Amino acid sequence: MNSLKMNVRSTSLQDAISTFLSSPPEGTPLEVIEAFEAPGVKEFLPPKLFLETVEQAPVAISITSPSAEILYVNKAFEALTGYSRDDVVGRNESVLSSKSTPAKVYQDLWSTIQSKRVWNGKLVNHRKDKQEYLADLMISPVLGKDGEIAYFLGMHRDITALHQLERQLSFQKRLIEGALDSAPMVVSMVDSGRKVLLDNQAYKALQGDFRGVEPADMILDALETQIGLDLDSAWSAESEFTNVEVRLEPPGGKGPRWFICSGVLVEDPEAAATAGGYFTTPESSPHHLMLIANEVTSSRQRINEARMNLIRANMTEQQLVQTMREAISGSIYKLQEPLNVIRAALNIPESSENKGTLRNVLWEALSIGSEAIENLQDALPSPKIEQVTRVNINEILHQVINLSTDTLLASGIVIDWRPAPILPTVAGRENALRALFKYLIDNAIAALNESNMDFRELRIGTQVDGDELVIEIIDSGSGIPEKMRLKIFEPFFFGWENPKGHAGMGLTMAQEVIISHGGGIEVDSDFLGGCRIFVRLPTAPSDGEVT
Ligand code: FAD
Repeated sequence: MNSLKMNVRSTSLQDAISTFLSSPPEGTPLEVIEAFEAPGVKEFLPPKLFLETVEQAPVAISITSPSAEILYVNKAFEALTGYSRDDVVGRNESVLSSKSTPAKVYQDLWSTIQSKRVWNGKLVNHRKDKQEYLADLMISPVLGKDGEIAYFLGMHRDITALHQLERQLSFQKRLIEGALDSAPMVVSMVDSGRKVLLDNQAYKALQGDFRGVEPADMILDALETQIGLDLDSAWSAESEFTNVEVRLEPPGGKGPRWFICSGVLVEDPEAAATAGGYFTTPESSPHHLMLIANEVTSSRQRINEARMNLIRANMTEQQLVQTMREAISGSIYKLQEPLNVIRAALNIPESSENKGTLRNVLWEALSIGSEAIENLQDALPSPKIEQVTRVNINEILHQVINLSTDTLLASGIVIDWRPAPILPTVAGRENALRALFKYLIDNAIAALNESNMDFRELRIGTQVDGDELVIEIIDSGSGIPEKMRLKIFEPFFFGWENPKGHAGMGLTMAQEVIISHGGGIEVDSDFLGGCRIFVRLPTAPSDGEVT
């Protein structure tokens, strides 16, 4: 069966070769005819098929002599150039030249093909009707038996449309880059590994302000920690966001900056341009994130200024209530002492000496005293019920430092503010936390003032330690002696040289606020040359509502 098929095919092949050799098409190079005459070739090469392939190939093919005199052109050549075979056979390929290709291109073409190498390049050609087109041409030398150039094989196609597209693309790219560069907003494109692939002038300027730290990194971290966005996985539709405000703490402690940010998915152009990406849809191919950030620090500062005035008024009221609470609590505490004495006296068994009037007087004193305590307890202003929200401790500390600026300046205290650049939020009561830190900072200022030292420094820093925030308040005052480090948290304890204005309840209440937030406070027992207080607060869960 197989040998029969072979015979049938071999026979028709041989017929075809014989037909071709008996009358080869006009312009068939001699080398081609010679090649078919070679012993054994006739049996294996299908010359008709070979010629028809060249003839019908969709690319313009020409075969020339070593001096570029045209011997053969195929149908695609005729269709592209408008010249018939008869028009061009015997003429030089320069018939196609529109005379606008620079001479050095031809010099390169000829020096390449004459050294028996393949040349590939672009030439400006014109058709028979003089219409210009851009040709992508490949010339390949065909060597004779002697190893010398016998023919040149030229193949070219019209790439005018491609060239126009490339020019338009490069124009659009320049236009977009120019627009991006002159835009006031910060723009960058980051890959899923958070590498910045593209940025604009505003981004570079911001990077300079941030001492080389990538602003994109800081913004993405802030979006995760402050807003709770999940940006861990490769960019997907869920990674997009619009007009989200974040607060950045740039390195160098120059104060916070606010940005309104949007993230838009952009198809990875390189992945899409690979051969493997040809059949992928824009949705399924890898993406980059275009990050656009608009700085709103100055308007935010104005809003904050107004807010600070409100906070200031609120704190004054809060402090007044606090002072009253301390004073009343102190009075109740003090009143209880004589009443306890009276209660003890009344417990002494009745005798002839203390019978009657004195006992009655004591009962009356006890009842008046108890009534006074009840009245005082009723008069205790109740602390305001506050809602639990996500609180940024850097922001709270920054506000408290602002509130204390006048006192710090008047006391000649240098403040060293070291906020963690990115700080997770705390689920807490904003006013209570603000009052807490105001109290601790006021204590540090009082300690510095009592120390009478020339150099007065107050250092406040925040950092993240696992699931907790650690707030450090260090003053270079006289410090707290070892034996007093636990006592200072007891109610009505006074450690100040000048106790005026202190009821001794402040640290007790501060401790209450911290404990009610699930945190802790400690005095660093190893710290020398002042006092170092650590406040630890648990961070809020990264997503969902806080209560
Ligand atoms: P010319 O004065 O003829 O040549 C310009 C420069 O080209 C000369 O200064 C010289 O450096 C070099 N040069 C020209 N002829 C030779 C030679 N025989 N030997 C060494 N160097 C030489 N040109 C096109 O414009 N469009 C085409 O599509 C095209 N297709 C070609 C296909 C093939 C297979 C070959 C071999 C050549 C092709 N050429 C094509 C080149 C063409 O033959 C001319 O060289 C070119 O068009 C320049 O011709 P010209 O009359 O403008 O200038």
